[in-house]
Amino acid sequence: MNNTPLLEVERLTHIYRRGRKEETLALDQLSFSLGPGLYGLLGPNGAGKSTLLNIITCSLTPTSGRVRWNGSTISPLRTGFRRELGYMPQQQTLYDTFTGYRFLAYLCALKELPAKQIPAEVERAAALVNLSGELTKRLSAYSGGMKQRLLAAGAILGDPRLLIFDEPTAGLDPKERVRFRRMVKALSENRMVVIATHVVSDVEQVADGILLLKKGRLVCSGSPEQLIETYLGQDGSLEKVYLKIFGDEADVESDSA
Ligand code: ADP
Ligand code: MG
Repeated sequence: MNNTPLLEVERLTHIYRRGRKEETLALDQLSFSLGPGLYGLLGPNGAGKSTLLNIITCSLTPTSGRVRWNGSTISPLRTGFRRELGYMPQQQTLYDTFTGYRFLAYLCALKELPAKQIPAEVERAAALVNLSGELTKRLSAYSGGMKQRLLAAGAILGDPRLLIFDEPTAGLDPKERVRFRRMVKALSENRMVVIATHVVSDVEQVADGILLLKKGRLVCSGSPEQLIETYLGQDGSLEKVYLKIFGDEADVESDSA
């Protein structure tokens, strides 16, 4: 991994509280620091991936700890940071009556892109996810895979320097997953990308670095090769490392690619 820190997470803790007694410790004093590159944030359901990404993208305020981007603490009020950020959340509501074009144009407006730039920007993002010909259709006519690609296009609008995807391949068929991986790899060439997933094959071939998260803590991090070497010796795969660490908790999902 490149050592120039771009994204720094410092002793991040998050506790969800429901009522007086019910508490969930979702992140537990999590710390790491990442340079430019493509990162896979791996862990089974409940590991804390979405909580972490929601905090990094300022959608959630942590119980304690902080996140720094390019040397400064992030905050929702920092317009500069919002402009540099592209986020595809795990759960996002799509308005079925919108066309693809209208949805992306709406996101451009939320990102405060100048109105004049919107048509070209929508076209550019749609082309990257192979949706150029589908923009006039209503979202009610989109397949699950098309909706995922549209959400990915939404994240790319404005050409952000930090791109965050949360379980981006949910609902995609194996062929679309492979296409998605290629797209993500291409996008990571001039920006930092973080992909949270419980599907090892989503990131195995493309990630420069892997972070393995378990119960809100970092189990290990390194390049896929380093993790394989540490946990298995020369021979093995990231999938096997994952199984070794998570055992029965690993809800393994694979594809033929
Ligand atoms: P992951 O994305 O890795 O599946 P999450 O960050 O969604 O993990 O969840 C981490 C933990 O926090 C889990 O135990 C989950 O049940 C809990 N959790 C997540 N969101 C909420 C919420 N809104 N309220 C209460 N508990 C939550
Ligand atoms: Mg999640």
